[in-house]
This record gives sequence, C-alpha cells and structure tokens, in this order.
Amino acid sequence: MEIALKVDVDTRRGLEEGVPRIARLLESEGITASFYIAMGPDNSGRAIVRLIKNPGFARKMIRTRAVTMYGVRTMLSGTLLPSRPIALAVPQVLRVLSHSGFEVGVHGYDHVRWQDEIDALGEAAIRAELDDAFEAFRAILREPAKAFAAPGWRTNATAMRLLDRMGLSYRSDTRGTTPYRCVVGAETLATPEIPTTLPTLDEVINRPGLGDTASIVRFYMARMRDDALNVHTVHAETEGMGQLEILAALIRALKERGAVFVRIAEVVARLDRETLPRCPVIRATLDGRAGWISAQGPPAD
Ligand SMILES: [Zn+2]
Repeated sequence: MEIALKVDVDTRRGLEEGVPRIARLLESEGITASFYIAMGPDNSGRAIVRLIKNPGFARKMIRTRAVTMYGVRTMLSGTLLPSRPIALAVPQVLRVLSHSGFEVGVHGYDHVRWQDEIDALGEAAIRAELDDAFEAFRAILREPAKAFAAPGWRTNATAMRLLDRMGLSYRSDTRGTTPYRCVVGAETLATPEIPTTLPTLDEVINRPGLGDTASIVRFYMARMRDDALNVHTVHAETEGMGQLEILAALIRALKERGAVFVRIAEVVARLDRETLPRCPVIRATLDGRAGWISAQGPPAD
C-alpha cells in the first residue's frame, strides 16, 4: 500500500509552529511527505466574516474549536489587524523542509481570497495570484515550484488552463480516487492531477462514533486501499497544532500494515500521462465541509 501525506499550510502560525512539529514527527518515524504552502498574506481572519455569513461554517468552527486551534492572532489577521505574510516572513522553514528531503509545493498566494472568490476573480487576478505565489517560492528556494495544490480544493477552468501552461509536474487540486488528466471543455490538459482520496480530519473528527483517536484511526484504515495510491491531506493548523497525536497514531497504524510513504512527485515521475484516465472536474459537497469543492468526475472516455 502506498500513502502520500499531503500537508497543506494555510496560515503563518501553521507554517511557524505546525510545520516544524509535523516535520519532527515524520523524521522521528523515518517517513517522508509533501508540503504545500500558501505563499502570500495571511487573511485567515476573514474566516470570522465567513463565520457570521455562513451558518454551516459557524457550526464547523464551533465544533472544531477553531479559535483555540488557530489562535486569536490568526483569527484577526486580515480583518482587525493587518494580514501577515506567510512564507516570505519565515523562509527558513521552507528551506529546512526542502533540505530535509521533503517535497515543497505551492498552496496558492492569498488562500482566503482564492478559496472565497475564485469564480469572481477573473483571468487577470487568478494569473496574478499564481505569479505572486510562484515568484515567492522561487525567491525563497531558488528554484521553480513544480507542483500546485489549490486552496480549499477549489479550482475552475481558468485556473486549470493557466496552471497547465506553466508546465508543472502535477497539480493536486481536487478530491477523487485516482491520478487523472483533467478534461476542460473540449481540451484534455497535459498536467496530471493527483487528487486527495481520503476525508480530512476536520471533516470527520466529530462524527458519531469517532470521538477518540483509536476510532478515528480505524475509520481511516478501513478506507485505505491496498491496490491504489492513497493521498491523505493533513493541515499544519490541525494535525500540526492540537491533533498531532492522531496523526502519529495513524502513521503507526499505516506502518504496521506495511504502508510505503511516498512523496507525490515520486509517484508522478513513474506515471504514464498517456494512459491516465481523462476526467472532467466537477463540483461537489462533502460531509463535514462547508461549501463546494472540486472533484474528479467520471472518466470521459
Ligand atoms: Zn489550505
């Protein structure tokens, strides 16, 4: 069984505090992972605005005790207090990750703006988000980024086409079951899409019967596929802060089952693009997550 841990980093606090803790855990377990970092301003305080506007989101925030989880400074960032830069303010965290052998990719520039406004942004603004993010990455790591993971698993035809022209090794923008190539209109994009295959911890943590670490680990292990690549997204702000023990327990259970931990770039290196399924990207909703996400549709051929 192969498992790729995809660590999404949405906030400054996640990068400064959550990432080093997750990296230490992974290193102590002798395993690898792929990290995707929001490069731009931390506007996560705008979540407060969402909390007021969206009843579903409010329930989720209360359920996961988000204020405790993210901290007051994060909640105010970009609202009452100026937004803080994420990657550019603590570039050494990215460099240490890269030097330690972890894969590092781009998780957008302004995470909140992308997630909340992608369909309103238009081509010029989406291009600006991408240019700023990839330029910040290059400035920090002195090499071009080869992978992109969309904030909030949200993408659209404009973003997919722009990203496809960048010649990346892959994108990981959607939820789905297997690596595929995205069909957008009449066009099949060249860049492989490697979807997240499992629900995230914040989507499942308060479901009935999942109140403790052991039951959460059992839940995940029952959903791991022995015959396919499993991609599990964890968050620097969740597993890296209050829920590190759950991640540690899951890693131990995976190791007991003989799982091989891979970086997504390694998986992509051995894929044959020509034989990947071609699938449209559809919009879907998920239990435990407010709003829509982009998902792998049924194969087009
Ligand atoms: Zn994210």
